[in-house]
Amino acid sequence: MPELPEVETTKRGIEPHLKGHKIISMVIRQPKLRWPIPTNLPDLVKGLTVLSLSRRGKYIGLHTEKGTIIVHLGMSGSLYFVGEGTPPLFHDHVDFQLSNGKWLRYTDPRRFGAILWHDASSEEKNASIKDSWQQHTLLASLGPEPLTMDFNANYLFLKAKNKKQAIKTFIMDSKQVVGVGNIYANEALFLSGIHPHKAAGTINAEQFTVLVDCIKKVLSKAIEQGGTTLKDFVGGDGKPGYFKQSLNVYGRAGDPCVTCSSILEESRLGQRSTVFCNSCQK
Ligand SMILES: [Zn+2]
Repeated sequence: MPELPEVETTKRGIEPHLKGHKIISMVIRQPKLRWPIPTNLPDLVKGLTVLSLSRRGKYIGLHTEKGTIIVHLGMSGSLYFVGEGTPPLFHDHVDFQLSNGKWLRYTDPRRFGAILWHDASSEEKNASIKDSWQQHTLLASLGPEPLTMDFNANYLFLKAKNKKQAIKTFIMDSKQVVGVGNIYANEALFLSGIHPHKAAGTINAEQFTVLVDCIKKVLSKAIEQGGTTLKDFVGGDGKPGYFKQSLNVYGRAGDPCVTCSSILEESRLGQRSTVFCNSCQK
């Protein structure tokens, strides 16, 4: 599943080939994604120029002079460029034909993704369209971005006050902070030495300092690794493969802990696989 680092990598990968280019046409072959693609979207976006791109949580915004095309990759989506006339395969649901001769293709086998529109009101200048899309209902209640200063130990400590919820479930809640998916929650808790089942409200300020630092580290490292795949977003032979990462706990239940060699244990929290070391994580 594309997590925040993959979404950020996708945004960086497609940005140079979209920015400043006009949308000649949009072709929808399958509108039934998580929410239906608005039927008037091809008419709306025709002739608009992609002025800039941004990411909020796992949403990518393509900002134009009239509003923002909002893309979510869902469980299995990808966005990449194909040459003109590249025949679509079964799961290639949407194409944007651009003025630079490239086609931006959206592929999504499981169709949990989304392509939506946020209209910027007429008085809004181009400069503020980038901010305006954050008022969209899907984005308005999102917590802070994990790699910004707004996400810090003090913030998280105050949010966790009196919460009985397990710390892992807590940091995966996008109302608290966006983009800490299952893999990164497992990894950050291991690096912090915090047991994933521990109640969020019982974690002290010092531990939150370590945890926030570890969350930032695992996400930054993954984005850095993703950077090596950027060239895959423009090419002839198909979509980018999401990058493999070196992980300490995720997917390693039953294997020895990299620190103390105890056997890593697995449990379920909110139906998500939770892997931890009972000796290193308290
Ligand atoms: Zn251990």
